[in-house]
Amino acid sequence: MPAPKSPAYLEGHARSPTAARIALRVATVGAALLAALSAGSAEALRLVATTPDLGSLSREVVGVRAVVETIIPPGADPETFQPRPSDLAKLKGAAVIVRVGLGHDHWLDKLLVQHGDPRINRRGPGYVDASVGIPLLEVKGRTIDVTAPDGHVHGLANPHYWLDPANAEVITAGIAEAVIRVAPELTQHVIAQRDSFLERLKARLAVWGERLAPHKSSRVVTFHNTWPYFARRFRLDIVDVVQPKEGVSPSPARLAKLVATIRDKNVRVILHEPYEPDEASQLLARRTGATVLKLSPSVGSLPDTPDYISLFDYNVDRLVQALSPLSR
Ligand SMILES: [Zn+2]
Repeated sequence: MPAPKSPAYLEGHARSPTAARIALRVATVGAALLAALSAGSAEALRLVATTPDLGSLSREVVGVRAVVETIIPPGADPETFQPRPSDLAKLKGAAVIVRVGLGHDHWLDKLLVQHGDPRINRRGPGYVDASVGIPLLEVKGRTIDVTAPDGHVHGLANPHYWLDPANAEVITAGIAEAVIRVAPELTQHVIAQRDSFLERLKARLAVWGERLAPHKSSRVVTFHNTWPYFARRFRLDIVDVVQPKEGVSPSPARLAKLVATIRDKNVRVILHEPYEPDEASQLLARRTGATVLKLSPSVGSLPDTPDYISLFDYNVDRLVQALSPLSR
């Protein structure tokens, strides 16, 4: 699979160790000063991300040189989330807003209108739709109204793209560009931060790939349609999804069909989101002998997943355990 493309101006720097070293020195000199700013002063640069995943990636990009807040709390179901008045207050003074897009955080549009600051509205320099540039899966027609009052469904495409770790390159490029637009003095710092993160991520991605390689083509069923990007990256075969549509419970007929599929295709693992009711997945497990495996769909959805890299460490670990022949 080709690597996602970075913006041209980031790419030149990204491969230059000298630029990275210089930027690192600049960052070290500025760090103490900025840490003081973050601690007390209203002058600290503020980023707000809609989800914990984008919050974690934003922190990797800005390091100690800005304050990052997230709107959806860790562990919450992002697709039933409704913002509270205190979430509007979080936008106060924000120079950058980072969203998932694709209708996943449709409620942000209303908050941005209420907030009214042109710096972070759709045309503002601090606005980041992190889905821009991502090779999307399950793309549908362009006419679906993602702000429909029934809330989130997977509208324009499957929105769970952060679960392919390779997509973090595109996501962090979008965040870095916005930070550089609103705070050009942070250019070298942001480039060095992002380079360092992508280097760590690349090393871990190789490890995750190696650990899951023996389980290539393993068949799984998922409760919600959260995992297509993850499955494509690590070559898992999702044979069916329990929820017929986001937020809708499976009918008895659908459950019977799933039982048959799980048996016929020798599916051993049902992936389940920790915040979703698990009666249907448990029932399928009882009837088929498959295991219900709760993976973390987002940073902080389960313990031991406090940031983007640990999210994959955890999920890969659990999956390898569940798919290993010894776990039978
Ligand atoms: Zn979803």
